[in-house]
Amino acid sequence: MTGNLKDIYRRRVLDHSREPHNQRRPAAANREVTGFNPLCGDKLTVYLTLDGETVADAAFEGSGCAISVASASMMTDALIGLPADEALRLVADVDAMFSGTDSPADKRLDEMQALASVRDYPSRIKCATLAWSTAEAALRGDAAQVSTE
Ligand code: ZN
Repeated sequence: MTGNLKDIYRRRVLDHSREPHNQRRPAAANREVTGFNPLCGDKLTVYLTLDGETVADAAFEGSGCAISVASASMMTDALIGLPADEALRLVADVDAMFSGTDSPADKRLDEMQALASVRDYPSRIKCATLAWSTAEAALRGDAAQVSTE
């Protein structure tokens, strides 16, 4: 990765963490899961509004480090409007991206590339994946809370 691209990515992460997209509590949300990352102290609540099988809305509240908030912001942008099964596939792609070295082919994960460099810092990977694993639990509707530990 060139230094230039790294700068672009760093700026994108900062933009998302300073002015997160969809940081709100939607009145119509019908799924709500809180995710914790005790290692860092990140705590995020993810709200999904499922309309049939479609993610009509995605939002989050909470507090965490810049990486966890930027990732949550990108997650909401990526999931809004997707069928639930595609949203789950995207969550799996993000998982693969942080556990392996592959870059996701899916164009919808372009923004997440900005966070891919945390793979070099294993203790921060859970900061980046927290919002996504919390969204996965919300999509599956099988938990009210998730923890990375
Ligand atoms: Zn964190």
